[in-house]
Amino acid sequence: AETWQSVPLAPPDSIFKLTAAYKSDTFPQKVNLGVGAYRDDSNKPWVLPVVKKATNILLNDPALDHEYLPITGLPEFNSAAAKLILGKDSVALREQRVASSQTISGTGANHLGALFLSRFYTFNGPKQIYLSNPTWANHHAIFKNVGIEPVDYAYFDPKTVGLDFDGFISALKSAPERSPFLLHACAHNPTGVDPTEEQWEKIADVFLQKKHFAFFDCAYQGFASGDLDRDAWAVRYFEGRNVPMLVCQSFAKNAGLYGERVGALHFIGVDKAATERIKSQVSVLQRSEISNPPSHGARIMALIMNDEALFEQWKEDIRTMAHRIIDMRKKLHHVLTQELHTPGNWDHILRQIGMFSFTGLNAAQSAAMVEKAHIYMTGNGRISMTGINSKNLHYVAESLDKAVK
Ligand code: PMP
Repeated sequence: AETWQSVPLAPPDSIFKLTAAYKSDTFPQKVNLGVGAYRDDSNKPWVLPVVKKATNILLNDPALDHEYLPITGLPEFNSAAAKLILGKDSVALREQRVASSQTISGTGANHLGALFLSRFYTFNGPKQIYLSNPTWANHHAIFKNVGIEPVDYAYFDPKTVGLDFDGFISALKSAPERSPFLLHACAHNPTGVDPTEEQWEKIADVFLQKKHFAFFDCAYQGFASGDLDRDAWAVRYFEGRNVPMLVCQSFAKNAGLYGERVGALHFIGVDKAATERIKSQVSVLQRSEISNPPSHGARIMALIMNDEALFEQWKEDIRTMAHRIIDMRKKLHHVLTQELHTPGNWDHILRQIGMFSFTGLNAAQSAAMVEKAHIYMTGNGRISMTGINSKNLHYVAESLDKAVK
């Protein structure tokens, strides 16, 4: 009876708690803007038509079995995933300097990458990683779990509701040489604020000067702009400049495969031999963690990425999702500025990229959205654009208008 007496009760995860509160609310016009998954214009989860097609092909394959995958996953998935993020012209791919492993979606990629760093990275001083302030809350937990201490770097400027570029650059410059920095490849979560290409170029300059390590997290490729190549720009640019790096990749958002847990971790090595050594050690770590990754989602994505017609259809489905979100940004901005004449500047709604938008609402205003309007959002003022649709757009805008007045 004494055994677990000292285990303290942990607080519930804030996003999952928000969803539970939304579900139990009986108010007819309630809106969930905390949701981290795509919803169509009828507020329903969307199974991508290309995923339905690929699933049918799989299920009708008489040779399909349920054997274990190799420890580092399905080879034809890994190679296609690497090409998707690094591009067909990648020098590292051509020189066989990419060690790829299939992971438990993006979270698993972050964990495996963090574990590898903890085991093998030559830290310059204490084991630390620099995380943008703010970042996806799970980043903090993932690095702490493997004994790496998260340190904030300046990223978001509440005054402009945009990037604190000077703060970011000075953090890069004042960190000890060879510090690992986590970078969101595109569609920064939670702010929706990304550096411009010119800013990425300057960021890469400092990475090279200071020999920093770029830990890229790419959870939204294609989902941000509607274009897989455009959203991979920063990752490919860093690879082209030979910044030491790895990339965590998720297919949760861009293929709507949230629960299938499809992801990959890609290390770029200095040469083929070093890359093989990395891959061998990733394999050892993966073996003790999960033995081998799940097959279903990886098979779906391997089919889609390796077949020209399916790949074209996937790109079309990605455009459907991204463009609905971009359209909602434009409409929300229009109603706020042209119809309601809501006080303040709302251009950041248009400028921000991807699933999330930082509205600039403070904690009290965000709480009022939940309590008075039944519009569920996090206390940091973040809204998920995918929760907005043609039916609730006006209600959301009017409620934002009231909250800031
Ligand atoms: N990184 C970031 C920045 C994210 O926003 C997410 C999803 N919320 C992930 C990684 C990982 O998600 P998943 O494990 O579902 O791929």
